[in-house]
Amino acid sequence: PTTITDELGIALTNLADSATGVFTPTLRLGVTGLSRAGKTIFITALVHNLLTQGRLPGFGPLAEGRFIGARLADYPDATIPRFAYEQHLASLTADPPSWPESTRRISQLRIVLRYQSAKWWSGLRGPATLNLDIVDYPGEWLLDLPLLGLSFAEWSAEALERARQPGHAREAGDFLAALYGIDVSQHANDPSAERLSSAFTTYLRRSREHGALSTLPPGRFLLPGDLEGSPALTFAPLPPPQSGAPRDSLYTVLEKRFEAYKAQVVRPFFRDHFARLDRQVVLVDTLRALNTGPEAVNDLETALSSVLACFRQGEANPLLRPFVRSIDRILFAATKADHVHHTSHDRLEAILNRLVANAARRAHFAGAETRSVAMAGIRATSEGTIREGGETLPTLIGTPMPGEVLDDVSYDGITEIALFPGDLPERPDSLFKDGNPVALNFLRFTPPQKLERNSAGDVVLPHIRLDRALDYLIGDWMA
Ligand code: GDP
Repeated sequence: PTTITDELGIALTNLADSATGVFTPTLRLGVTGLSRAGKTIFITALVHNLLTQGRLPGFGPLAEGRFIGARLADYPDATIPRFAYEQHLASLTADPPSWPESTRRISQLRIVLRYQSAKWWSGLRGPATLNLDIVDYPGEWLLDLPLLGLSFAEWSAEALERARQPGHAREAGDFLAALYGIDVSQHANDPSAERLSSAFTTYLRRSREHGALSTLPPGRFLLPGDLEGSPALTFAPLPPPQSGAPRDSLYTVLEKRFEAYKAQVVRPFFRDHFARLDRQVVLVDTLRALNTGPEAVNDLETALSSVLACFRQGEANPLLRPFVRSIDRILFAATKADHVHHTSHDRLEAILNRLVANAARRAHFAGAETRSVAMAGIRATSEGTIREGGETLPTLIGTPMPGEVLDDVSYDGITEIALFPGDLPERPDSLFKDGNPVALNFLRFTPPQKLERNSAGDVVLPHIRLDRALDYLIGDWMA
């Protein structure tokens, strides 16, 4: 029943855009990925490079000399937080630089791009304009979509089954203990509901900390955004009542909250934000998974298939049918590629490609075109070589974050080191067939310390393959 009003809402916003005068095309680009995948860094780097016409040889409009310039503009919807670009850039370019605060909720930013079209008739019309609306949102929220198709009983059964798996004992133990002996048909009281939901949240958080990437919904339990402490988040999965559930029983009350979460939190997010996207980039900390081991790589594949299931279109995705929209391109980006030598960048890309292909098969994915890229929004390392035992080894040069430890050496955040990062396998097959762990020397680095400036005096942020990502995501809209 909400469908018609939803669509009317969308039609009206489009009208409002064009009512301001000349019609300017708007490309809505979604940027997502699980917590700490690199969304904030990616967006900050992308915006800065566009505003300052950075080194982007692989970005068509700039390489072809057709890019005129970019500026930030007010976002049309004033109710959505603005992406704190200036603040993030200030942390990165401070002395000493620091990594900015990560994404905690949805935010948006509009950047207006001026360019000369390459089409033959465009000379008659003069420069063209494109609004690029960037929508940053936690991947955890995306993974809530399947909840829309589940009842409280179904979701509880799934969640409890998972919590009871032997491998989850360490994380889920306290939550299962809190459930033990509870009679769900009994009269509900707030303290017991809160106790259960907080034990459940701790369980979800712990499994995240222990490296699980295929996080369990509800996503707001991990990243509540503005809902921190709100009753909409005070529920937990429960076993079915043995003898009916009276109206004020714990079971009925939590079931109502679950339904409210779906109706008031999940559905509006998909309707108001997700449904309006034209393009999507999904950032994936692939190196972290590779470095953690084969189980984490499997888990990453599961996470990717849940992500792809959300982008499945048309008949294949009944949950999304009310949210008409067509994302036609999805870019999967393996972030933080500056943690490996450039000889491994193509390999990293091949590995992610393989994971996405497997995930697409599992999710019966159809609809958008997908591509994978290995990239770093901000490159924190440079490259060199060391000679060891007559061999020349490629190294990375960077400053480890304070407190980072490798081979029993603890770093202070000031000392620059050269590190042999290790190689990725040449062919992804070896990784998937034999489940070979990849042994990388993995250290977190501080942001780059000495930044160059361009002729206009703007800081130059070094990156890896950001230009390719940009070209794939928006290049054809600026043809
Ligand atoms: P978000 O949660 O997806 O917004 O993640 P962030 O963008 O805040 O990234 C999380 C952390 O990953 C940052 O604080 C950095 O330490 C690291 N990081 C992200 N992108 C890069 C990158 O391009 N290079 C390096 N070296 N580190 C990165």
